[in-house]
Amino acid sequence: MPRRASQSVTVSSVNIGGGAPIGVQSMTNTDTEDVIRTANQIADLARAGSELVRITVNTEAAARAVPEIRENLERMGVHVPIVGDFHFNGHKLLSSVPACAETLDKFRINPGNVGRGRKRDEQFSQMIEIAAKLDKPVRIGANWGSLDQELLARLLDKNAALAHPKPLDQINREAVIASALESAAKAEDIGLPSNKIIISCKMSRVQDLIQVYQELARRCDYALHLGLTEAGMGSKGIVASTAALAVLLQQGIGDTIRISLTPEPGGDRTKEVIVAQEILQTMGLRSFTPMVTACPGCGRTSSTYFQTLAERIQTYLRDSMPDWKDKHPGVEDMSVAVMGCVVNGPGESKHANIGISLPGTGERPVAPVFIDGERDVTLKGDNIAEEFQTIVQNYVESHYKPG
Ligand code: SF4
Repeated sequence: MPRRASQSVTVSSVNIGGGAPIGVQSMTNTDTEDVIRTANQIADLARAGSELVRITVNTEAAARAVPEIRENLERMGVHVPIVGDFHFNGHKLLSSVPACAETLDKFRINPGNVGRGRKRDEQFSQMIEIAAKLDKPVRIGANWGSLDQELLARLLDKNAALAHPKPLDQINREAVIASALESAAKAEDIGLPSNKIIISCKMSRVQDLIQVYQELARRCDYALHLGLTEAGMGSKGIVASTAALAVLLQQGIGDTIRISLTPEPGGDRTKEVIVAQEILQTMGLRSFTPMVTACPGCGRTSSTYFQTLAERIQTYLRDSMPDWKDKHPGVEDMSVAVMGCVVNGPGESKHANIGISLPGTGERPVAPVFIDGERDVTLKGDNIAEEFQTIVQNYVESHYKPG
């Protein structure tokens, strides 16, 4: 599908926009002052596939921690670009801790949280001047939870003066867009080139997000960072984010994405990276890890064996990817099917690179394996899972060779 033309922004080793593959981003939830925990979480997110990782920089101690975090990451062999998230005091922190500004690969500035009145302009200019001097890209990230109140008041007054005022929701959406675009124009006036600017306008409701980004795409050619803010927990967060992003991505809108999931208590932060990758991969926009097609199961299979096998194979494929990535180029496009009975099992297995059709209720206890559409071996006995995994491993080694 055609992508919207956007400016190409280089963030250290990563390109965003200008036709580059749609990037996957994430954000830590550790206290940035805690250097070790933050560095470890950045490393986890990067290893899961996050191409940029954002950290909050909210205090002087957090700003001072940034170079130390970078040093720790270098020692771990992790070179992912780090984005600093600034609200309220970013102008002070970037000025008083130059090493923080120099270390970060990109700044995120929320135009609703920069200050009020004359101070707002001064503080915004201060941050943009530092970015321009250091040649750092900036995401101007508006969020409807922290809208620029002065701008909103101006738009509301203007609306109230109309013969037929527009609905409040529409004014809110326009306020988020205007906040981002007016700030971007100011940043350009101050001296930040347009190919150093990324825009986001995050909303927490799916329909609002879609309308706002369609409008942004119409009104500018800045690279766009896409994400539903405060998406929520578990399946709600995943479904809402996917529903919103899928519509926009299908229309070619969006150069980089972040999924703002609320982790379960003690949950794994890397889930947001996996969900982002799966959205892009299931839409056919990028490939990250071989995908497993599995049937949902029904009354034709009383055993949960195929579910266990599907999960085992998916975990095996994901865990193998860091090792396979360089050794077996192209393996991320491989497809594997794990099916529960003869109804759709052989057919779906033939569509995959490798497929296994497990026996359903009343069927002979055998599991035919299909490779590239042809029936290959038939597995039986107690070691079907191990033998199937070996078949997958052999297929990877023989079909995805370096060079
Ligand atoms: S493939 Fe068989 S077990 Fe799986 S959902 Fe279809 S009929 Fe049910």
